[in-house]
Amino acid sequence: MASRIEIPIKGMDCAGCVKSVNQAIEQVPGVKSVDVLLSAEKALIEIDSPELIEEIEKVIVKAGYRVPDSKNRDSSGETEADEFEVLRQKALRLFGIVFGAILLIVVAGEWFGLFDSVTAFIPFELGVVLVLLMGYPVFRKVVLSAMQGNVTVHALMTVGALAALIAGEWVTSAIVVFFMRTGDFIETYTTNKARNAVRSLTDIAPKTACVIRNGQETDIPISEVRTGDKIVVRPGGQIPVDGVVLEGYATVNQSAITGESMPVEVESGSSVYAATIAEGGRLLVKASAVGRDSTFGRIIRMIEEAETSRGPVQRYADQFSAWYLPVVALVAVITYLLSRDLMATVAVLVVACSCAFALATPIALLASIGSCAKKGLLIKGGKYLEKLAKADVLLIDKTGTLTFGQPEITDIIPLNGLSSGELLIYAASTEQYSEHPLARAVIEKARNLNLVLIKPDQFESMPGVGVKAVIDESVITVSNLRNTNTNIDQKVIDKLEKQGKTLMLIQQNSIPVGLLAARDKERNEIGAALDMVKELGIKKIELLTGDNKEVASSLADKLNIDFRAELLPEDKIRIVKQYQEKGHTVVMIGDGINDSPALAQADTGIAIGTTGTDIAIETAHITLMRDDWLLIPELIRTARKTMNVIKGNFGFTTLYNVVGLTLAAFGFLPPVLAAAAHSLPDIGILFNSSRLLER
Ligand code: ADP
Ligand code: MG
Repeated sequence: MASRIEIPIKGMDCAGCVKSVNQAIEQVPGVKSVDVLLSAEKALIEIDSPELIEEIEKVIVKAGYRVPDSKNRDSSGETEADEFEVLRQKALRLFGIVFGAILLIVVAGEWFGLFDSVTAFIPFELGVVLVLLMGYPVFRKVVLSAMQGNVTVHALMTVGALAALIAGEWVTSAIVVFFMRTGDFIETYTTNKARNAVRSLTDIAPKTACVIRNGQETDIPISEVRTGDKIVVRPGGQIPVDGVVLEGYATVNQSAITGESMPVEVESGSSVYAATIAEGGRLLVKASAVGRDSTFGRIIRMIEEAETSRGPVQRYADQFSAWYLPVVALVAVITYLLSRDLMATVAVLVVACSCAFALATPIALLASIGSCAKKGLLIKGGKYLEKLAKADVLLIDKTGTLTFGQPEITDIIPLNGLSSGELLIYAASTEQYSEHPLARAVIEKARNLNLVLIKPDQFESMPGVGVKAVIDESVITVSNLRNTNTNIDQKVIDKLEKQGKTLMLIQQNSIPVGLLAARDKERNEIGAALDMVKELGIKKIELLTGDNKEVASSLADKLNIDFRAELLPEDKIRIVKQYQEKGHTVVMIGDGINDSPALAQADTGIAIGTTGTDIAIETAHITLMRDDWLLIPELIRTARKTMNVIKGNFGFTTLYNVVGLTLAAFGFLPPVLAAAAHSLPDIGILFNSSRLLER
């Protein structure tokens, strides 16, 4: 039986590291699948038996990375032993940098003739020792990976540095190593900066909760809180769990989840979410989901795991960087064979910057997905941003998406001698287990009239059609009028539909016993939002609905978009597929409740209008955590900007490598300069990608 485990990993600085860790774990027999996450610094592994964990931890360490001690691993991840290790690494790095800087000054000084050959006084052997000392952390990783059959990004530079040593140029070698370390440092910095976008989210995760146990209020770590616990939230305090308010009143800032800082009011019976802040007022909350299971916990997990769904661009980048190393090695060999110039060969090995290729996409995606999460845009993977950026068809579901999904019953028309009350009791009792907005409207109406509902014996939901249940030993259906033969006066039907109302037919044992009409309010900002979407070049916008033609056309005309009405859920999927077969990239927007199959079929499925309910988060590729249509054009803009940043990253990395390799191969670039130039693309990626962090 396969199970999924998580192992935290420290010391991964760049996309290349991710690859070597991935390969190392993959080679362990019994491992079914591995995903190594750069942002969350962990591996998600599917294994056959739990005994493998130790073995896997061993290979990670063997590959040159660290696994925090499982005994001291707490929810925050960092441990004391870890801090010591971090300090040690910092000290090592500092030594490398200070020593390298002195060396650089000396060499540059000699070059410009400021002082005479200082380095000449240092014996060659001592120089070799210095090089090995300074390069130790990098050499170690290269050798460890090589032993496992992996060629890492630093392999070329390492070979270059050794070649320079063999040529007797220890100073050159030392400078190469110095820049190799500097490059490492820049990569770590870049990765951390992008990681921070995600980490600043995890940082606000609740850590403790004040629970009432045995009648006493006690503060306990969040890991010890159970569902059902009663939790006290003090004024100004963070709500530590998802739950329902039992007592109290407060205004809650939900920006941690929705990105919207306008507070909402909660009172007894309201739902509250972990990581939101109760600004005023004291609350007593009954916990319904804690930690990883809370909405906030799931958001974090989804963002962390977003890395695993790679789009075409990223797969291309991965392939490219896999090819790049052998190509550079080949150029180096040819350079040496043709020119017999060892220094030119060293320059070729040293100038090549393959890590930048591997960094180009993940850094941009990390930054983008992380900063989107803060705005209430939950994106499940770079793949979906990629598709969104080039989407040309936008399909929109109606109920709950274009409209608020809070219809109200406007007309009750009993037939066959039933009273209005009896009709409503039948309809509402049948709808009791349905999640459809119309069902809620019917039940609400019955409640307002203080009608007592009957518990249905059997219940069946017919997606896109209606519901069926056995009430008082007769079969009651509530459905739309399609495919039904009724003797109801067509004029009555036409009149109601012309008013933009949705009709429900109630039948008892296949005999019509009444009609209910409902009307939903549309969201106001949609017109403006769709205009922006059109300006962004998405010309084809279509409303897809299961509702009647009149309702659909009145909405579509107002928004100046196309529509198709009276569709079943499978029709919606078929339409999405048809567009895709014609080569279009399709975005589908829905509420994720009864249109999830179409959302899943679309290239990018966006859920809106459910304020981040569980189903929406599970089914959609992108979830809007707050109901604001203006987020749609913003999302498209962000997607395009992200792709532009990625293309930019690739563009100048390629340019740099072509120019650099050419100059180096023809001997125009001394190894020392080549080493100095090595990190330019990394710095470029850092600056270019930080454009995505702006708010
Ligand atoms: P939309 O495409 O607008 O989101 P749905 O596919 O959810 O609409 O439903 C299509 C139609 O099916 C509704 O307009 C309604 O007539 C009918 N319907 C679906 N579910 C129910 C229900 N639970 N009760 C009554 N009618 C329903
Ligand atoms: Mg719907």
